[in-house]
Amino acid sequence: MSDVLAITEHRRGELRDESFEIISAGRELADDAGGDLHLAVISGDVDSFADNLNREGVDAIHTVENGEEFNHDVYVQAVEALYNDLAPTFVLMPNSVNGLDYAPAVANRLDLPLVTDVIGFEYDGTLTTTREMYGSKVETTVDVEGDQFAVTTRGAEWPEAEGVGDAEVSAFDFEVDESAVRSTVTGFEEVGSGDVDISEAEFIVSIGRGIEEEENLPLIEDLVEATGATLASSRPIVDNGWLPKNRQVGQSGAQVTPQVYLAIGISGAVQHVAGMKGAETIIAVNTDPNAPIFDIADYGVVGDLFDVVPELIEKFS
Ligand SMILES: Cc1cc2nc3c(=O)[nH]c(=O)nc-3n(C[C@H](O)[C@H](O)[C@H](O)COP(=O)(O)OP(=O)(O)OC[C@H]3O[C@@H](n4cnc5c(N)ncnc54)[C@H](O)[C@@H]3O)c2cc1C
Repeated sequence: MSDVLAITEHRRGELRDESFEIISAGRELADDAGGDLHLAVISGDVDSFADNLNREGVDAIHTVENGEEFNHDVYVQAVEALYNDLAPTFVLMPNSVNGLDYAPAVANRLDLPLVTDVIGFEYDGTLTTTREMYGSKVETTVDVEGDQFAVTTRGAEWPEAEGVGDAEVSAFDFEVDESAVRSTVTGFEEVGSGDVDISEAEFIVSIGRGIEEEENLPLIEDLVEATGATLASSRPIVDNGWLPKNRQVGQSGAQVTPQVYLAIGISGAVQHVAGMKGAETIIAVNTDPNAPIFDIADYGVVGDLFDVVPELIEKFS
C-alpha cells in the first residue's frame, strides 16, 4: 500500500485552511498511489480538531496530544514517530510558516527526499511534482526518485475538503524526548498587533499603485466600510508605507482565498497574482484594458477608479 500521511495545522485554538486543503491534496495523491489517507493533528484540543477534520476522503485520523501550541521540536518528534509506525509512502506537510519550520528537519531525520511548495503531483511509481519558479513565471516538473517522499503543499492550490467523513479516529501515544525539545513558544504576536489576518478574509478590497498617493486612501476606506470588506494591497502600497506589511498580497506577502477579491488599480503582476489567484471571484477596476489582471478577472471594469469607487460607495451605502 502507498499510504499518505498528511499533517494538519492549527493556530490559537483554530484549524487553519491549510488543514482542509491538505486533505484534498492527500486524497488526490492517495488515489493516484492506491493507498489510504492518514491525517495527524498534533497538540492543542486534538479531539475537537479531529471531529472537524473528519471530512470525506479521510481514512484515519491520529491525534497526538502533546503541548498546547505549535512547537518545532514536538512536531518533528511526533511526525517521525507517526512515520515509523505507519510507514507511509508520502508525508505531506503544509508549506506554511510552521510547516517549513519542521518539514526539512523531518526529511533530514527520516532521510527522505523533500520537495517544497508543490502545487500539483502525480504518482505512477515515480513521484512527479509541479512547482513554480522565477516568481511564478515558469512552471517546472520535478521527478523524485525514491521509495518514500516528503512534500510541502502550497495553500490554496487544492480546494478545502468538504462533506462529513467516517475516518477512524485514534489517539497516537508517544513519549516526547524532553531533552531534545530545545525551543519554547513564549507567546504569540500578530504582525501589526491587533490588525486583521487578510488570509482569513472572505471579501477583500485590494488597492494598487493606481491610487496614486496616500491622500487617496480615505476614499478606499469608505468603500471598505460601505461593503464590510477587508482592506489589502499590492506591494508598492506597502513599500511606500501607506499600509502595514500584513496587508500585502502576493509572493512576498500573504496568500488569500476570499470569495471575492476586488482589485482596484492593480496591474496583475505575477508576484501579486501568486497571492490571490485562489480567490473564488476576481473583479478588477483598471484604466488599462490590457492590464494582465483582466486575464484572470471574472469581471472587469475598464475605468478610472476615481469615478468607479465613489459610485460603488453610493450603491453599497
Ligand atoms: C521578488 C519580488 C517579490 C514581489 N512580491 C510582490 C508581492 O508579494 N505582492 C505584490 O503586489 N507585488 C510584488 N512584487 C512587485 C510586483 O512585481 C509589481 O511591481 C507590483 O505587484 C505592482 O503593483 P501594482 O499593480 O499596484 O502597480 P503597477 O504595476 O504600477 O500597476 C498599477 C495599475 O493601476 C492602473 N491605474 C493607474 N491609474 C488608475 C486609475 N486612476 N484607475 C484605475 N486604474 C489605474 C494602471 O493601469 C496599472 O495597471 C514583487 C516583486 C519582486 C521582484
